[in-house]
Amino acid sequence: MKCLDGKTAVVTGGSRGIGRAVCLRLAAMGALVVVNYVSRPDAAEEVVDKIVENGGKAEAWQFNVAESSEVMAAFKDIAKLAPVDILVNNAGITRDGLLAMMKEDAWDKVLDTNLKGAYLCMKAVSRAMMKSRWGRIVNISSVIGFAGNGGQTNYAAAKAGLVGLTRSAAKELASRGITVNGVAPGYIDTDMTRGLPEAVTEKILAEIPLNSLGTPEDVAAAVAYLVSDDAGYVTGQFIHVNGGMFMG
Ligand code: NDP
Repeated sequence: MKCLDGKTAVVTGGSRGIGRAVCLRLAAMGALVVVNYVSRPDAAEEVVDKIVENGGKAEAWQFNVAESSEVMAAFKDIAKLAPVDILVNNAGITRDGLLAMMKEDAWDKVLDTNLKGAYLCMKAVSRAMMKSRWGRIVNISSVIGFAGNGGQTNYAAAKAGLVGLTRSAAKELASRGITVNGVAPGYIDTDMTRGLPEAVTEKILAEIPLNSLGTPEDVAAAVAYLVSDDAGYVTGQFIHVNGGMFMG
């Protein structure tokens, strides 16, 4: 018997990077995993195939977390498959630029995907979770949401917004047996950070006491804890997985 047997988890942005590692980890714990993606069905299907190969259960599900109508329709269909017990809001993008030059579109896209997307998905699952009097929600923020970063005002605002969203929802939903927590990763080796120039990566490494980038699996381990029964008395909290670069 695995600890998430009989539970269903939706992981937004589950097709690549951190989300992919979270999907594999939750499936290994016994959950049926819905692997959400927006533009890469090939990547989502690879995750599903890997889970099934390992003896787990998974479905790929396309929707844009930033589009209210798509989120509502998707969660309505997912509920026909099984009630959602676990939601991991992981989908995220960056559109970096200096504040004085930042186009409104870069601001809107980042806020809509990283912050509004989490709100829409939480809204979509919360009523059913309240009814079943059990639920786990984990929001993936970032070290940038706590420490700030020049050139990322939009991303930092979205990720800091997730902190307020998480803590407020934790207070609202606690009496119904639902915990709402977050993970704040530092610099993790994924497609998002692989595009950075070598000099930037070197500079970042110099600021990390543990002297390496993190792995998606490092973040997935924190999510695994937060959705487990061991974390039943933990809500409104953030686990920092950042090699010591920020101690919040
Ligand atoms: P990647 O760029 O590797 O993957 C992003 C994932 O999000 C993909 O699965 C992508 O789907 C999905 N996605 C993007 N936009 C949408 C959308 N509108 N609707 C649904 N899915 C979407 O990112 P990471 O794995 O690096 O990051 C995952 C999360 O962790 C993000 O929230 C990020 O901000 C956060 N984070 C990452 C850090 C890092 O160093 N990598 C550090 C701190 C936080 P598709 O494959 O279809 O494109």
